[in-house]
Amino acid sequence: MSGPHSILFRAYSQDGVIEKEHLLSEFAAAGFDSDNPIARELIAAVRGCDTVLDETAFERLYDCSPALLAQILEGNLIIADFKGFRAQIEEIFNQVRENREGQVASYIPQLEKVDPEKFAVAICSIDGQRMALGESRDYFCVQSCSKPLTYCIALEQLGVEEVHRFVGREPSGKTFNELALNAHGLPHNPMINAGAIMCGALIERGKSPAERFDAVLDIWREAAGGDCRIGFNNAVYLSEKQTGDRNYALGHFMREKKAFPEGTILADVLEFYFQCCSIETSVEALSVIAATLANGGHCPLSGKMIFRPENVKNCLSLMLSCGMYDFSGEFAFMVGMPAKSGVSGAILLVVPNTCGIAIWSPRLDELGNSVRGVDFCRKLVSRFRLHTFDQMVGLNDGRLDPRRSTYEERLGGGTFFLWACANGDTSEMRRLVARGVDPAVCNYDDRTGLHIAASAGQLEAVRYLLKVGVPVNREDRWGNRPLDDAIREGNDHVAALLKERGAECRTAAV
Ligand code: GLU
Repeated sequence: MSGPHSILFRAYSQDGVIEKEHLLSEFAAAGFDSDNPIARELIAAVRGCDTVLDETAFERLYDCSPALLAQILEGNLIIADFKGFRAQIEEIFNQVRENREGQVASYIPQLEKVDPEKFAVAICSIDGQRMALGESRDYFCVQSCSKPLTYCIALEQLGVEEVHRFVGREPSGKTFNELALNAHGLPHNPMINAGAIMCGALIERGKSPAERFDAVLDIWREAAGGDCRIGFNNAVYLSEKQTGDRNYALGHFMREKKAFPEGTILADVLEFYFQCCSIETSVEALSVIAATLANGGHCPLSGKMIFRPENVKNCLSLMLSCGMYDFSGEFAFMVGMPAKSGVSGAILLVVPNTCGIAIWSPRLDELGNSVRGVDFCRKLVSRFRLHTFDQMVGLNDGRLDPRRSTYEERLGGGTFFLWACANGDTSEMRRLVARGVDPAVCNYDDRTGLHIAASAGQLEAVRYLLKVGVPVNREDRWGNRPLDDAIREGNDHVAALLKERGAECRTAAV
């Protein structure tokens, strides 16, 4: 039998069969369990099989979900070693759990009475791989984590030009609810209260308050993959409304400055803002929303486009510069990823083109960010090269990149480097060294680039390798040195250069 399934079958079968449990454990290790809407059908199909699958049974299974099955079994997923990644995240989670600094928000009773010990993290990759730790199904109100979505919805409905006629895009340098507007009498950006109130005034215009909120909740549900509960906490909403003097003041201040579009009913707009803060969900759902942003607006679980990529790009830019209250600059510097936090202790963290992460722990620092949330983010980038500008840093700084397989991680650009040596492509060699490839890297036969370039007669490459300090007399698996290679292949210029730099033949050494 042959066909695309047979290569997979050959790779995974033993004595002509694959064990069903083996397949299920491969799926789970890759981040797919039966709760995951992407994999539900495939997992149900595997469960329906006999304990072992022969090639015919496997082919039937393959036909049920060829793309996903191949992706999982080939390890062709954005987080290649999901099992290893999960283990690292669990370690960080357990360390961070010990951090009991900070205080829960106390301006409304609904937040004050939340158990401060609660802690949950959920991750969803852009390929839909998922994991969750702690109280990942507990509900909490999203508070300011609603702001990026309100902004995205405004961008979708009005376009960037129109939205930014009403709201700026500069960090305010002031607290999130400061009674201040920019020099044009507009809110500084959509990530602070005034800007979010304004974005709320821009969306679903002409609809009744009920229709407007319904439409927004629908978008939240779609962004979360349509599967998780997105609710509303009425008590939080009533409290927000009752204690919202500052937000009322902001609304009046903007109305006085004629900042709102014509026809805006201020009371409706403020209520809408309080309602958005009172949307209630879990880290599981929030991580899928973050993953939708990480995936340029396509929900990884449903494949639907929720927001256009250019709008997501704009939203992420502002989350990066303004998303973490007065800690935004420091967070961008240190963690380097777009994020938005809320006073309920939630953080929506986006690793562009990789995954979405949601963290919830109610104790806040003095700037209003979840203490454990920030701690988690710091520890995450100390282990993984996920800072947006980590690509500037060499590959060999000891941190991992979850987007590479273990071998890619370990070998880095080594294989490419050795090919460049063989071809005498010194500019490529230089680029790879600049990216952190060790110029003394060996292949599996212990041959360095110098052995290879010497064999191939690549004089310039040899010159470069000597300059960057590749050992001149290293022996390969057979005891050959670069000079042996040059002489054997009759590359006299190379041999002369090597000798000049102290190279010896293996025979000379014995
Ligand atoms: N709902 C509160 C307010 O608008 C806090 C929002 C937040 O920053 O999470 O004042």
